[in-house]
Amino acid sequence: MAESLIKKYDVYGPVNTHDEAVFSKYTFKKIGAGDKVELHYGVTTVPPTKYLFPVREDILYFKNNKEVFKDSENQKPRILFGLNLADLEGIDRLDKEFSGPIQDEVYAKNHENTYLFSIDHFDPEPETSYDLHFKKKDDRYEVTTGSAFGREIVAGNPLFRETKKESLKTFEPKKSPIHNLDLYKIIEKSKDDPIWDKLTETCFGCGICTYVCPVCYCFETEDKVKVEGIKKCEGCRKRRWDSCMLADFASISSHDFRPELRDRIYNWYHHKFVRTPKEHGFVGCIDCGRCIVYCPARINFHETLTYLIKKYS
Ligand code: SF4
Ligand code: SF4
Repeated sequence: MAESLIKKYDVYGPVNTHDEAVFSKYTFKKIGAGDKVELHYGVTTVPPTKYLFPVREDILYFKNNKEVFKDSENQKPRILFGLNLADLEGIDRLDKEFSGPIQDEVYAKNHENTYLFSIDHFDPEPETSYDLHFKKKDDRYEVTTGSAFGREIVAGNPLFRETKKESLKTFEPKKSPIHNLDLYKIIEKSKDDPIWDKLTETCFGCGICTYVCPVCYCFETEDKVKVEGIKKCEGCRKRRWDSCMLADFASISSHDFRPELRDRIYNWYHHKFVRTPKEHGFVGCIDCGRCIVYCPARINFHETLTYLIKKYS
């Protein structure tokens, strides 16, 4: 399937890097002929949201007082292939974060012409948007279409035949403190709790927990300008990932409004479990576990939440 798609589209999927030195051997990359897509990758280090919100990108060009926004018209259609349901959910949350209250045009353009093909083994089907979803059933796949593009891929394709829908294993969601309905109240009440001091003693403020998170989206922008005389200038605006855990993140023209690591740690929890639910109606976390696995200080936010829930419920 992937081979027939790469002739027409840019296809990105999870592959095994065989790199034993990292926690996850799997990474999303552009698939070429002969590459084997891994359909049971679990968790990659960097989530596939990197294609929609890249680590760094030029977002705007300007020349002699004229602005030209990056456009996606000439972008070849691309398919993110083999997404698991967690990564599909991460994309859905980021879509929502970037769509309001003010729509991020650059993100929206990055999403244009990008199609999502997911694979899993369980019922129910994805609750988030997708184009094609594959469910493994013994030695075959049951496919459901989620968009006109998905239907176009399937229609008349000899790889697919219509069957009666069968039920598969039902997925039992794991119990997690992030699903506690009072979490936002608990986090708000805990602002002066000693847990934040304790975490400050351990946390390096390195930002890794945000860089690997599919739902985090802090960024900074920088203008690169070439000036020749008063009226002649050209350049571009670049944006790149930033992290609310880093020391200078909140520095603005000679003032830093969040200089203490303790406050930055509290802000991480407050944003994910208080502000995001208030703004969007969901928590800023899909429970993928990346921030736990990759934290060099072995900080586990589940333990923090469990402690707070016990103390403030
Ligand atoms: S990854 Fe761990 S040590 Fe680094 S900022 Fe996040 S919580 Fe702190
Ligand atoms: S588990 Fe950590 S990395 Fe994954 S979505 Fe939640 S906060 Fe982000």
